[in-house]
Amino acid sequence: MTADGRFAPSPTGTLHLGNLRTALVAWLFARSQDARYLVRMEDLDTSRVREEFYDEQLHDLAALGLDWDGPVVRQSERIPRYESALAELREQGLVYECWCTRAEIREAASAPHDGLPEGAYPGTCLRLTPAERSEREASGRPPALRVRADAARVAFDDRLAGHFEGVVDDFVVRRNDGAFAYNLAVVVDDAAQGIGEVVRGVDLLDSTPRQLWLGARLGLPAPRHAHVALMLGPDGARLAKRHGAVTLADRAALGQTAGDVRDELAASLQLSGRGEQLTPADLVGRFSVRELREAA
Ligand SMILES: [Zn+2]
Repeated sequence: MTADGRFAPSPTGTLHLGNLRTALVAWLFARSQDARYLVRMEDLDTSRVREEFYDEQLHDLAALGLDWDGPVVRQSERIPRYESALAELREQGLVYECWCTRAEIREAASAPHDGLPEGAYPGTCLRLTPAERSEREASGRPPALRVRADAARVAFDDRLAGHFEGVVDDFVVRRNDGAFAYNLAVVVDDAAQGIGEVVRGVDLLDSTPRQLWLGARLGLPAPRHAHVALMLGPDGARLAKRHGAVTLADRAALGQTAGDVRDELAASLQLSGRGEQLTPADLVGRFSVRELREAA
């Protein structure tokens, strides 16, 4: 059975080699099973989005030979879908208002709580007395919306990271500035777009139990997951701008082609030796999930 895949960047900056490597792996997962590969712009955080990065990111994907199917979707154009998911959660009595500031959450989360991992939101605003509640309502500070997850345990088998289990805390589904949260939008969109396999960086592994839990509440089919190891800089830290020439444009300025960069990414995935200059189609022929898992 083929499972459609996607790459879902945020147009808030130039893609670096680590992002591009994840895009390549997601593309290889999809193309090696003749599945669709969709691109979705996760642009709900309008304070950080810049118009020029939509085109630049697509340009970089195309330069590497990573083609995609259908129109590129923007989350900012899909707000009504998130509204109706939120309404459905409200109907189930799962949504509550949270007035906590960042500092209050940090403080509350640092105290030990039964069954919740460190840093999890402990449900402070679920247990407000009527007086505390009116005081917060009167403050004029708009509330964020959280879902009541009752510290549900969710386990799944990741195709690259293996068995993973997490406790779901009462996470935010709409921020107090009105923006829908990543965890809600990603679940709604993956289902609406028919994504069968979510391939993304391992930094998002922790958020997967929340998304699986939310998808189940909304009656949506659960996709498979494959969380890809992150690319590291020479100092062993996660690759970042400070590591120097980490974008296609940086590399072009050094005289490297997109093919050279694809070659480097393929070598880092142990799909080729350096300098082999394989085409995207060659890489599809060599790709195997099992070997990638063993190489990681
Ligand atoms: Zn709160």
